Amino acid sequence: LLPVGAFIAIFIVGVVIWLSRKRLSPLGELVIAVRKREFIVHYQPIIELKTGICVGAEALVRWRRPDGSLVRPDLFIPLAEESGLILPITDQVVEAVIADLGALLAADRSLHIAINLCADDVTSGRILDVLGDKLPKTEIAAGQIWLEATERGFIDIEAARATLARARERGHLVAIDDFGTGYSSLQYLQGLPMDALKIDKSFVDTIGRNSATSSVTGHIIEMAKTLDLQIVAEGVETEEQADYLKAHDVSFGQGWLFSKPLPAADFIDYHRNAKAR
Ligand code: C2E
Ligand code: CA
Ligand code: CA
Ligand code: CA
Repeated sequence: LLPVGAFIAIFIVGVVIWLSRKRLSPLGELVIAVRKREFIVHYQPIIELKTGICVGAEALVRWRRPDGSLVRPDLFIPLAEESGLILPITDQVVEAVIADLGALLAADRSLHIAINLCADDVTSGRILDVLGDKLPKTEIAAGQIWLEATERGFIDIEAARATLARARERGHLVAIDDFGTGYSSLQYLQGLPMDALKIDKSFVDTIGRNSATSSVTGHIIEMAKTLDLQIVAEGVETEEQADYLKAHDVSFGQGWLFSKPLPAADFIDYHRNAKAR
C-alpha cells in the first residue's frame, strides 16, 4: 500500500506544480523566460534615402514563448523595466546581435546595428561594460554598434551625459530615440553628446496631412540640421513620406515601405539582395 501512497503524493505534488506554473504572475513568467533565454531579435533595415542602400538595422527584441508564438516588446518591456529584468534581457539582445550578425558585420564594415538602451543603462553606463567585455572577442568594430537612448534615460541628465560621452569615446554612435514624444525640447538636449536623432513615427505619420504637427516635423528636421545631427526617420510607410524626407535632406529612413523587422537569416538575405540591386 505504501508505494501506492507515494505514487499519489507525487501525483498531487505534480498537479500542484503544474497549476502554480499555469497561474504564474506575469513577473514570474518573465523571470522564467529570462532564465530560459527565450528572447530573440528581429532586425529592421535602415535605408540611406538618397541611394536606397541598406546601411544597417535596428535590433528589436521579441519574446518567443515555448509554443513558438512571439510577444511584442510593448507587452513586456514596461514590466521588464520596472522589475530590472530589462538588464539581463538587454544582455541577451547584445549576445543575439553578436551571434546572428557577427560574421556579416565583420564582412561589411559599412554596416551598423542599433541597440535600444533602457533608462537604467543610460544612467549607469553598465551597458558599456557589457559591450566592452563582449565586442573585443568578436570581429565587430565599436563604430558598428549604434546606441539608441530615449528621454526616459535623461531623468538624471548629468549621468546620461557621462554615459553618452563614454559611449562615443569607445567609438559607438549615439542616437536619441523617439525624438519629439517626450517633454524635453531640443534646447534641453542640445548639450548632450550625440550623433543622430530618430524622428518618431508619430511625426512621420503627419507628412502629407494638412495638420499643424506636419509643420513641426519640418521644424525638427531643420533644428537637427543646425545641430549637425544625422537624422533617421522611423515608421516610413509611404512613397510620399520618403519623398518629403529626401527633399528635406533626411539621411536615413526605416519603415514598412522598405521592410518590416526581419528574423536574422531574412535580414542577411535582404542585405545581400539589396547589394545586388
Ligand atoms: P522603437 O524603438 O520606437 O522601435 C520602432 C518600432 O516601430 C518597432 O516596434 C518597429 O517594428 C515599429 N515600426 C517600424 N517601422 C514601422 C512602420 O512603418 N509602421 C509601423 N506601424 N510600425 C513600424 P517594435 O519592434 O514592436 O518595438 C516597440 C518598442 O519596444 C521599440 O520602439 C522600443 O522602444 C522597444 N524595444 C524593442 N526592442 C527593445 C530592446 O531590445 N530594448 C529596449 N529597452 N527596448 C526595446
Ligand atoms: Ca529604437
Ligand atoms: Ca524609435
Ligand atoms: Ca517610436
